[in-house]
Amino acid sequence: MIVCQLIEGINLKPPIGALGFASVTLIKGESKNILFDVGGFGAREVISAIKKQNLVDCIFISHLHFDHSSNLDLYCNTDIPIYINTKELVYYKDTYDSNKESDMFPYFKTIADSLLVYEFEGSIELDRGIRTLETPGHTFGHSSLEITKGNQRLLIAGDAIKSINDYHNDEDYSNAYDPQNCISTKRKIKQENFDYIIPGHDKMFNVKCNDNQYFRCVKKNLRYF
Ligand SMILES: [Zn+2]
Repeated sequence: MIVCQLIEGINLKPPIGALGFASVTLIKGESKNILFDVGGFGAREVISAIKKQNLVDCIFISHLHFDHSSNLDLYCNTDIPIYINTKELVYYKDTYDSNKESDMFPYFKTIADSLLVYEFEGSIELDRGIRTLETPGHTFGHSSLEITKGNQRLLIAGDAIKSINDYHNDEDYSNAYDPQNCISTKRKIKQENFDYIIPGHDKMFNVKCNDNQYFRCVKKNLRYF
């Protein structure tokens, strides 16, 4: 199995408003290739190239914020399954109908019928060593992917862990739907003791590095797991 972070997300927060450039990761599994998130503006060229090369057998969407899911329209009218947690679809409908949150991908509602959406809940296996993990808080139905290869474990976190800084503190500064739940999810992830994390808005890092090794690990090219 090969895990490659194709796009390293960026974590920038202006004093007013929001920017979004999210990570996109390709997992070459034993029997299928899985694309984790499809990014938003600025990522379209990459997602389009992936589609043209028929590189992907299915897509996993961590949550329906615009910066993680806006390029889904490229997969309209195809037979590529799009895995989205049922709770996230309910949350989308709720927030969209009541206009409670503006960060959702607004056109998902328009294109949903043309996508092959595969709803799931809890922990399901997408391929050998690749399992979904519910990581709620940032959004109601936020989910991540847990990858096991030999005795090493990697979490493709989405916005459950936005950056390496986010991992190493106990606060929430991620415009979460439920900040308390976001923090407790972060604690649960830390207890799991993963070896590597791919954050939603940062490059992949090695969790096991101590403070002295920290910068060396971040600098090292860890795009491949
Ligand atoms: Zn988000």
